[in-house]
Amino acid sequence: MDEVKVGGEVVSYCTTCKIMKDHVVVAMDEGTPAKVECLGCGKQHAYRPNPPGTRSKSPRPARRDQPVSRPPAEDLEMRLHGAEERARTYSPKERYAIDDAVRHPTFGVGVVVTLPAKFKMEVDFRGGRKLLVHDKGDGSAEPGLQRRPAVDESAPFQIPDAPGKS
Ligand SMILES: [Zn+2]
Repeated sequence: MDEVKVGGEVVSYCTTCKIMKDHVVVAMDEGTPAKVECLGCGKQHAYRPNPPGTRSKSPRPARRDQPVSRPPAEDLEMRLHGAEERARTYSPKERYAIDDAVRHPTFGVGVVVTLPAKFKMEVDFRGGRKLLVHDKGDGSAEPGLQRRPAVDESAPFQIPDAPGKS
């Protein structure tokens, strides 16, 4: 459709002639003609893109910004309410199960909703659903951290990492 502006021509329903007719745009309102003047009878009236009784087919932009899988906010709020007290501080080395509550340093308190893959869990936080790593307790996430040398109980003052001990 050509750009319509004041002084331009547009087809509108004329309330006097009772038919679709060419009109001159008299006034615009945010990109659409607001007032038009009939070229047949010369009368000014509101712009009517369709004859009375027909529905205007203005294309609506499809709204797909709401993820379907997301639970209702009040439901999450309810689950998070009890989660505050039982939440464990999140650590990628800990293992979590569905419905466990975690306290994340960035996202706050959340509830585990799914375990989509090994070492992966999806957690619902107030800010949305996040995919987090968990169950990396075998040390593969941070090599070395878990590998403490066994302490000899019979030597109480022995420093575990002292060089020369074998
Ligand atoms: Zn007319």
